[in-house]
Amino acid sequence: MSHHKKRRKPCPEAESLATEHARVFEAAVEAGRRAGRKAAKRKLKRAARYGGLQLSKPLRESVLRDAEKAGGRAAYAAATKALRRAGSRMALAPAPGHAAADFGSPTGAGPAAGAVAAPPRRMPGSQVVMDVLRVERPSRSMVRIVAGGEGFDDFESNGAADQYVKLYFTNPSLGLLPPYDLRSLRKSLRREDFPASRSYTIRRHDPVARELAIEFFIHEPAGPAAAWAAAAQPGDQLVLSRPKGKFRPDPKAEQHLYAADDTGIPAIAAALERLPRTASGRVFLEVEGPEDEQEFDLPLHMELTWLHRNGEPAASSNLLSDALRDIPAPHGRVEVLALGGRDAVRDIRKLASHWDIEQRRIHVSSYWTARRPGRTWPVQAAAGPRLEAGQRRDGTDD
Ligand SMILES: Cc1cc2nc3c(=O)[nH]c(=O)nc-3n(C[C@H](O)[C@H](O)[C@H](O)COP(=O)(O)OP(=O)(O)OC[C@H]3O[C@@H](n4cnc5c(N)ncnc54)[C@H](O)[C@@H]3O)c2cc1C
Repeated sequence: MSHHKKRRKPCPEAESLATEHARVFEAAVEAGRRAGRKAAKRKLKRAARYGGLQLSKPLRESVLRDAEKAGGRAAYAAATKALRRAGSRMALAPAPGHAAADFGSPTGAGPAAGAVAAPPRRMPGSQVVMDVLRVERPSRSMVRIVAGGEGFDDFESNGAADQYVKLYFTNPSLGLLPPYDLRSLRKSLRREDFPASRSYTIRRHDPVARELAIEFFIHEPAGPAAAWAAAAQPGDQLVLSRPKGKFRPDPKAEQHLYAADDTGIPAIAAALERLPRTASGRVFLEVEGPEDEQEFDLPLHMELTWLHRNGEPAASSNLLSDALRDIPAPHGRVEVLALGGRDAVRDIRKLASHWDIEQRRIHVSSYWTARRPGRTWPVQAAAGPRLEAGQRRDGTDD
């Protein structure tokens, strides 16, 4: 008996229902945005008339834009709720440019029921969809994705040095369109097909260039995030959550002690950029070897030390905690920031709590932990030619 997987034929009724729902969403969001702007305008007018509030033109515009976004988000949430309450289910509409999604079960029993068509791309919600504009290679093991496009305006930076987002990765053969309705997909997709999410730091958010950069450490074996970044091309979509994170360097600290492995380098780099030029302290960064180092513009009295694993597995490396143990115990207003593998940062936390430092100035966070890769990612097979350190891939490449 043959076990051909059945391909799902697009059902015209389901498609028209999905299109109709998409239209409802778009109309609701648009109405919400307009209502948000109108309400904020009215409030500002009143505040100016009765409270004497005078805002500069750019600030006024920014307040109105925020209100517009908030209105759109509220309308989106309300429309989702209403549709859910009505028991509506959208049929899966294949993404333009993709083959119809194959949700055939291994038994050939046909598609998973209730797969949900993605709502429209520019809908403000908990996910933001941006386009990859450029791919750069700041060092041998790091890939920098620079993203922007229409979705950029939906991303609200929180300004923290360690602000991070969840990125969502799907198997491209499923043809799912972002933003993903995770709640519905959880019901309709097989467990192994459900989008994978991983946390990543916003290395740079540039509202003038309307670009956002994220740096991916390419570890091996690569999981979905590293595999995606290694194969990313301009025009690919980057799906991100709203940002979290709240670390802001203390400009009054007498000494800054920063330590990280490859995964924490983007956050440390962002923190260094926010320090005053006169800041002093030490930075320890752990990478595989000299080709994995990057250049940073350091404040005048910050000393950077690179530590090399030279083949030792990242998960069991003690380089960072050993380096910190070797320095004289710091005193006074000292700020500690340590980011990296679970065991390494646990050691640093223990060490820092023996130092005479206020707990609230110790910022230690586990960024990853060694575990078995759960599944293989087809995106790996699509990887383009490997970029060397210093090279970039952009829309003008052949
Ligand atoms: C708040 C926060 C911010 C972060 N910011 C960044 C960032 O800016 N850049 C960045 O590169 N990472 C960052 N990370 C770490 C990143 O989320 C993890 O490394 C993640 O597990 C990578 O996902 P993956 O799909 O590539 O690998 P996974 O599927 O999670 O793992 C696959 C395999 O690789 C191993 N593995 C996973 N990560 C590593 C690693 N770092 N080194 C060696 N082996 C590993 C696992 O043990 C496993 O065997 C951040 C994490 C947090 C919590």
